[in-house]
Amino acid sequence: MIEKLLEYQKIDADLKNIENELKKSEEFKKYAQAVKFLKTVTDSKAQIEAKAASLLLGMQNLQDRLKKLSDDKNEFTGIDEVEDENMLAFLKKKSAELSSQYASLEAEIEKLSKEMTELTLSYKKLMANTKAMLSQQDEYKLKYEELCKEKETEKSKIKKQLELIAKDIPSEYLAKYKEKRKDPKFPIVYELKDKHCTACGTELSQLELSRLKNEKIIECENCRRLIFIKE
Ligand SMILES: [Zn+2]
Repeated sequence: MIEKLLEYQKIDADLKNIENELKKSEEFKKYAQAVKFLKTVTDSKAQIEAKAASLLLGMQNLQDRLKKLSDDKNEFTGIDEVEDENMLAFLKKKSAELSSQYASLEAEIEKLSKEMTELTLSYKKLMANTKAMLSQQDEYKLKYEELCKEKETEKSKIKKQLELIAKDIPSEYLAKYKEKRKDPKFPIVYELKDKHCTACGTELSQLELSRLKNEKIIECENCRRLIFIKE
């Protein structure tokens, strides 16, 4: 019965090869790349919008401060006419302070406005990429489907062979096998040799060995492949 399962696996390997070939194809890769990218677009867009809102708020704040400073600065026009020397020195110092604050605010505004320009550019880039990826998705979905169709005859031939062999395999073995078949790892079934799993080389415990004697086929606790013992 184990022999039948091994025979099943041997034929199933051909099916697995076709599946791998399809997954490795340029058609599938390009399609999957587009799908993956498009999944991230909503998040990327939301991030850009959140950043834009915060930049706008920052800009509004800086401009309010600039306006206030500009008003304060205007109050110093005509200070040269003040005759009291101490007062004049004080006012000149104050005016210089305001001018320096004004200049640093202007620099901050310029920096922020550069960030806004960059953000606009990245938004435009995102939109352009989205458009390109949408058309890549459509194009390669079709191409991939074509490729799958080409392999369909070959695949169904193998599947028919598998169905025939499956009739001679106990259903609990086959169920275990099919569950593992969903993983990318292949082969699935390995023989026990000198108490070791031949898939990963781990030595089985006494408990596992006695389970294996009873159940004939168990899952390796280390690599999760199926180990069998010949009857
Ligand atoms: Zn193992």
